[in-house]
Amino acid sequence: MPVLSPQNDPMGVAIIDFLTRGTDQPLRVCSPMFDDDEIPVAHLFRTYLQMPAIEQKALDLARGHVLDVGAGAGCHSLVLQERGIDVSAIDISPLSVEAMRLRGVRHAVLQDFFLVESTYDTVLMLMNGIGMTGTLRALPRFFRHLDRLLAPGGQLLCDSSDIRYVFTDDDGQVDLPHNGYYGELRYQMRYGQVVGKPFPWLYVDFDTLSRCATEAGFCAERIADGPHFDFLARIVRQ
Ligand code: SAH
Repeated sequence: MPVLSPQNDPMGVAIIDFLTRGTDQPLRVCSPMFDDDEIPVAHLFRTYLQMPAIEQKALDLARGHVLDVGAGAGCHSLVLQERGIDVSAIDISPLSVEAMRLRGVRHAVLQDFFLVESTYDTVLMLMNGIGMTGTLRALPRFFRHLDRLLAPGGQLLCDSSDIRYVFTDDDGQVDLPHNGYYGELRYQMRYGQVVGKPFPWLYVDFDTLSRCATEAGFCAERIADGPHFDFLARIVRQ
């Protein structure tokens, strides 16, 4: 994934606007699968107490040298930094990286996850960060990269959701799409006049994630469940 330019980085513009001008226009998320949705920009600035319990749990389990992947406005990195944990935050949005630096994230770096070369004890991918893998077919490549990134004894902490409920009607009948895995979505974001390019995003259910992890020489543990088909997983080498 190349670095984003401000003309097609609605989330980055929204983050900088919120931080420097206090404006909070909605960040719109469009997908052919859903009605348009909104992410309140303030959510990207959540404190530990405002975070969902599965994110709090992930932060409590983070240890050693931590990589916060797709760090956005840096909410998770800031909590870890305040706890004295050595954390590096990466994002492909130059505006988000600028915002993180303005907010005091000490190691905020403009970098694509798939090009990271250092090793870490904890890789953190929250707010469904593993979704940046895009498709189920790309998960083996993701795990090969993770194997290079994780120090001996290292862990990946990631959350995701099983979006099967989207395809389930009121009587409990499930009608999954016939082409491809049901968690493979295409998203497009919009913030005011700034329209991002459509991008693939993966929501992987725990059993599928666990199977792919096992095939790649890892082992996935379901650490906690969220209130809406979401979960926190810890993935370590077998
Ligand atoms: N983790 C933050 C932000 C989540 S939004 C939070 O929980 O609030 C997802 C972020 O991932 C965006 O900021 C996006 O720019 C970034 N991103 C997408 N693909 C990426 C990649 N390949 N490498 C690094 N960051 C990426």
